[in-house]
Amino acid sequence: MALRIEAVPCLRDNYAYLIFDPEKPEEGAWVVDPGEAAPVDAALAERGLSLTGILLTHHHPDHVGGNAALVATHGPLAVLGFADDAHRLPEITQRLPASRGRFEASGQTICGLPLETMHIPGHTTGAIALKLGDEVFTGDTLFAAGCGRLFEGTPAMMHASLQSLCALPEDTRLWFGHEYTAANLRFASSVEPDNDAMQARAADLPACTTPSTVALERATNPFVRAADAEELGARRKAKDEFRG
Ligand code: ZN
Ligand code: FE
Repeated sequence: MALRIEAVPCLRDNYAYLIFDPEKPEEGAWVVDPGEAAPVDAALAERGLSLTGILLTHHHPDHVGGNAALVATHGPLAVLGFADDAHRLPEITQRLPASRGRFEASGQTICGLPLETMHIPGHTTGAIALKLGDEVFTGDTLFAAGCGRLFEGTPAMMHASLQSLCALPEDTRLWFGHEYTAANLRFASSVEPDNDAMQARAADLPACTTPSTVALERATNPFVRAADAEELGARRKAKDEFRG
């Protein structure tokens, strides 16, 4: 078993992700959060892979927008998302359980690994994180050095969700939904001007910053580092208004 994850840039600054076992290309690939179909089709064709299924972190159009076209082209496909949000997830075929606070086996296997899920409300009420081994897909809940806007959830929900994600081992890789890292670090440095880890990260930023790690987020993410829900809420509000 070998797990390969490759970021597929979609739309303006979204990331979909291809997941496949390079030793078993005949088993095809899964895609996380296909905001549009064309770049996913291109990434599959480039690697000579078929599409097996779709994994979803939340219902927003820039994460599910490619579902219908991918099913039409490659279907039938397994389309997996959170059971409680199934009514908002186009083309869903399998409803995954998910609880707050801890990852649990979903009953699905991807590339020989058990797929684990955790409910992480905050950006939306029905957001989930998806975990395969030491790889976690966070959608728009946790970004590198940032977090998603609180469209449906509360600061308390987002605080608890980020703390649950960052309770994982330090070398856990975090694959997030948007390339916002440079702007996030400008805000982070305004919150903690003396944080050397934030400065170092900002000074050495590649064009594509996914994945991050739990260790990096603990050191440089002002929302993970917020002492409580109230502080997180104040920081999120400041970020909404920040012009850096
Ligand atoms: Zn979203
Ligand atoms: Fe998004």
